[in-house]
Amino acid sequence: MTLAAPRRAALAAVLLALLAPPAFAAETPPASPPPSAATAATETPKIGANVSTFQLPNGLTVVVIPDHRAAVVTHMVWYKAGSADEPPGKSGIAHYLEHLMFKGTKANPGGAFSKKVAEIGGQENAFTSWDYTAYYQRVAKEHLGLVMGLEADRMQNLQFDPATAAPELKVVLEERSMRTDNEPSARLGEAVDAALHPNHPYRIPVIGWRSEIEKLTAQDAKAFYDRFYTPNNAVLVVAGDVDEVAVRDLALSNYGRVQKRADPGKRMRPQDPEIDVVQSVRLADERVAQPSWRRLWRVPSSHTAEPGVSEALELLADTLGGGSTSRLYRSLVVEKGLAAQVGVSYQSDALDDGRFLIYAVPRDGVDFDKLSAAIDAEIAAVVRDGAPAEEIARSKTKVYAEAIKVQDNQASLARIFGTEMATGGEIERVRDWPARIRAVTPDQVKAAATRWLRPEGSVTGELVSAPPSGKPLTRGGATLGAPMSGPIRHGEAPAGFEPLETTLK
Ligand SMILES: [Zn+2]
Repeated sequence: MTLAAPRRAALAAVLLALLAPPAFAAETPPASPPPSAATAATETPKIGANVSTFQLPNGLTVVVIPDHRAAVVTHMVWYKAGSADEPPGKSGIAHYLEHLMFKGTKANPGGAFSKKVAEIGGQENAFTSWDYTAYYQRVAKEHLGLVMGLEADRMQNLQFDPATAAPELKVVLEERSMRTDNEPSARLGEAVDAALHPNHPYRIPVIGWRSEIEKLTAQDAKAFYDRFYTPNNAVLVVAGDVDEVAVRDLALSNYGRVQKRADPGKRMRPQDPEIDVVQSVRLADERVAQPSWRRLWRVPSSHTAEPGVSEALELLADTLGGGSTSRLYRSLVVEKGLAAQVGVSYQSDALDDGRFLIYAVPRDGVDFDKLSAAIDAEIAAVVRDGAPAEEIARSKTKVYAEAIKVQDNQASLARIFGTEMATGGEIERVRDWPARIRAVTPDQVKAAATRWLRPEGSVTGELVSAPPSGKPLTRGGATLGAPMSGPIRHGEAPAGFEPLETTLK
């Protein structure tokens, strides 16, 4: 029912991981060759060149992504409110509210929302993350007005009936058991997050701490709803066989009637201090069949970085761990035979700081000291010598190829633009991302490694197996092996969403 995934950069995830060989695939060759370097050198693609945006009088931001290849639309509403916006002591309320959003309004009581979407052959889903909560449907284009009406209704008329809210809390607690409590990798992820963020609410899991979830009430959910679920705090993304004029008309007649009810203002979370401690956490659990190792650094996101730094981190991640040509893969998997898997991910799309992750699965008999020493040596080599210009150029070519390919995926485009707008970004930032990547120099990549991949401030997580305890074991489901805790998704995902969630398994 649910999938866990680490937070990923919208662009990095979709462009570098979704369409490229999975970063953590052990021996997967590239799916298709990149276009010739000559093409990439002369043309820097733009992402979503025909995307437009406008605002309704009530403050709702609308993004239109025309895509006329099929008569379907992807309709998404993003609220600029996630778990990092929860009041202290109420962890899990953003996600609990997401569940309650399917429990009905006066006009559409009970499960009427989902029933109507199913009746027209649509797909729907929702997800909660640290920085946003989003709801979407994919339907035939003639039903766009219908789903807008449904979504606009629950934006303002949600009912908070304790009789339905209380049992739903049990569903959430069961979800917590499945995806975290019975999932050693996710539990380790929570400990790593707490160490990485001594002060910022990113330290708190999206699903919440069990002891706090247990105490949540319908009233808590309503308070969060009243504070954040107002049109001026939301972004509507419509991608598909529509144009801006049609979307504007439909949006005005549906969302235009929703009153602005609150003014959440700028999101100001407590920030993390600079720390120079080297931290390590370890979890031994008998459910662990395959030991794994991870190291994380807190680094700037595209929203907090100085110009060029986020882009340099993107290329650094690719150089170190992007697929079978990367340094870590060649060294640890191919040459030294120390690892069965190795990968790197840079999460750039956070509203506040992002994170840089190196993840590895040792081969049998290889201890973590040997593994981490080999990884350290590869980082040290980039810090000392930088990466050759041709290596950086190869990473750029890959990015351009993927930027072209992503245009073919309506849902991915909707998600990229939705994420950007829900975290305070701009359309232009997405559009020009390939150009900004292009401008990165090898020196900037070297500088990023030197500045950000220092041992000080890093957190290492080690997951190992423990001897059998003899107690009955409950195992988690879909999240087995997920290297970090992360956003929560529900229901079936249309093509284009799924890979984002499974890449880092
Ligand atoms: Zn859930």
